[in-house]
Amino acid sequence: MSTELLQGSCHCGTVKFEVRTAVVPAARCNCSLCRRKGALMTPPFAVGELKILRGEEALTLYQFNTRTAKHYFCKHCGIYPFHQTRKDPQLWRANIGCLEGIDPYTLEASVANGASLSVEEDA
Ligand SMILES: [Zn+2]
Repeated sequence: MSTELLQGSCHCGTVKFEVRTAVVPAARCNCSLCRRKGALMTPPFAVGELKILRGEEALTLYQFNTRTAKHYFCKHCGIYPFHQTRKDPQLWRANIGCLEGIDPYTLEASVANGASLSVEEDA
């Protein structure tokens, strides 16, 4: 899988970031949060590959269940740009829909079994 440097932003443009990552294999996740969010995600990348260019103060952190994963969203427009994974805190994933020049609807996606990582029912 080849990585490239991609520009990303939330919907209102407050949060801007760049990330060096592959786009495929793209994934969705069946955990209770992703089911509601519906975002298509990049493969995991190392935390050092993500650079927040601006709007860090607009990012709000949401945690649930085991509180290991860190889910960020923009407090102005509500869009999720990236999150720190539960599986490995060194690994992050970004919302492909936030990345410039990539059409998420052209990508094949598998479904990650995030629900299996939950310790509480329906979490
Ligand atoms: Zn925003």
